[in-house]
Amino acid sequence: MKILLDRGKCTGLGICESLSPDVFEVDDDGALVLSTDVVPDGRLAEIRAAVTSCPTEALRLTED
Ligand code: SF4
Repeated sequence: MKILLDRGKCTGLGICESLSPDVFEVDDDGALVLSTDVVPDGRLAEIRAAVTSCPTEALRLTED
């Protein structure tokens, strides 16, 4: 599974970062940085929680 980010929708508040800080990080400019766009092994439930917690629907999960 891959993580897709729509930068136009991201407001940089960091809810995703609070749930998975090693994957999602809001930088000093308020831009979200993904450490990887591939869901790490065994972390699907956690990453899915971060994705669904995004209030602006800026994150999506996709196959492949
Ligand atoms: S929770 Fe959504 S809007 Fe907030 S930083 Fe993460 S992707 Fe951006």
